[in-house]
Amino acid sequence: MTEDYRSMWTDLGLDLDAHDALLGVLGSAYKDIYLAQKNRPEGMGYFDFVMSEVHGLRIKELMDEKAAGGKIIGSYCVFVPEEIALAANATLVGLCSGADFAMEEVEQLLPRNTCALIKSAFGFKLGKVCPYLESADMIVGENTCDGKKKAYESLGHLVNNLYVMDLPQMKTDNGKALLKKEYLRFKEAVEALTGVSITKESLKSAIGVVNAKRAAIHRLSSLRKADPAPISGLDGLLANQVFFYDNPARFTASVHKICDELEARIQDRKGAFPEKTPRILVAGCPQAVPNWKLPMIVETSGAVIVGEESCVGERGTRHLTDDTGSTLDEMMDALVDRYFQVDCAIFTPNEQRLLHIREMAAAYKADGVIHYGLQFCQPYLMESIPVEKALEEKGIPCLRIETDYGMEDMGQLKTRVEAFVEQLG
Ligand code: SF4
Ligand code: SF4
Repeated sequence: MTEDYRSMWTDLGLDLDAHDALLGVLGSAYKDIYLAQKNRPEGMGYFDFVMSEVHGLRIKELMDEKAAGGKIIGSYCVFVPEEIALAANATLVGLCSGADFAMEEVEQLLPRNTCALIKSAFGFKLGKVCPYLESADMIVGENTCDGKKKAYESLGHLVNNLYVMDLPQMKTDNGKALLKKEYLRFKEAVEALTGVSITKESLKSAIGVVNAKRAAIHRLSSLRKADPAPISGLDGLLANQVFFYDNPARFTASVHKICDELEARIQDRKGAFPEKTPRILVAGCPQAVPNWKLPMIVETSGAVIVGEESCVGERGTRHLTDDTGSTLDEMMDALVDRYFQVDCAIFTPNEQRLLHIREMAAAYKADGVIHYGLQFCQPYLMESIPVEKALEEKGIPCLRIETDYGMEDMGQLKTRVEAFVEQLG
């Protein structure tokens, strides 16, 4: 089987030696961080399997879809609507990257003071180690933060299939009109790519598939409100990360299966950690695979993470799309309405995000919030100050951290997190 994968990876143009090195690091990090956890729900076995095959079986499935006439679309942002891809017989996969790779080459193309997420996306391209990126028929960039916006200009020279979507910066009528125009333009581009015209039936069905996937995650999140927390924050984050890669129907079924198990655990008062373990909400920048640094630190420092206010988490999955429209245009409007509520820090003003963090802290009974900011990420680092203030007004302690994907600051972060957890206890 591995031999089949090697020829598949070669056909995709991957650098096999570099790719072996990446899988080696990923595999041992997974073992040390995930498999070392105690009291894991059995249903996590599915996610362990997905992770062990994330560059194998899942890529084979995507290649099979391509052979059968389907297309693969890669995206770096939760503003790219999966529903439009699915409605045109394409599969959307997340390309956000959570590890440093080929940094010397990256820093020849991007300034050193670029956030780790953008650098990582470039590193995976330059190092030829991401089969999702290499299998994508279209790569979608979006004009969100300045870093990404300018980086896509350079990425456009490295790939020949980059599509750039413009996005509003303000939640105004003009902003909404721009989003609608851009979604219509994206729909046309996807139809041109796949040769499939989106109909009201195909869009309705795609909305149903993505709603079901998000509803399953809502169910999982809601079970994390229990004390003792029936699942660790690391495992909760993993489910949110796999959301971006897995086959949607299979993902939905697997999340529901684990939720059934968690409901039974809650009844038996069985937790991933003991009752009354200090509960933390993480807010801020997205944590893409394999960026497990912060949850690992928190959950080995005497606390449990009960929710993620993040695009790999509740900011990304929060709202469902109204599927009751009877025309294609009504359904496109429903998509615009749904995505326009995403409260990314690129928006100004962004009061809704502060309210959402406060709501989440109350709903998940968080004792404290850790704001996770990637170094050089101006939108989230700037916003972390009003976030802290809004939480302090409610008497909720907040720890603002600023970090990257490197391991150099592990000791220092652990000391700060431990002190914070002690304060909560
Ligand atoms: S944080 Fe903003 S730019 Fe990043 S994925 Fe989320 S919506 Fe997109
Ligand atoms: S983490 Fe911040 S700087 Fe980096 S891509 Fe996201 S919004 Fe932009």
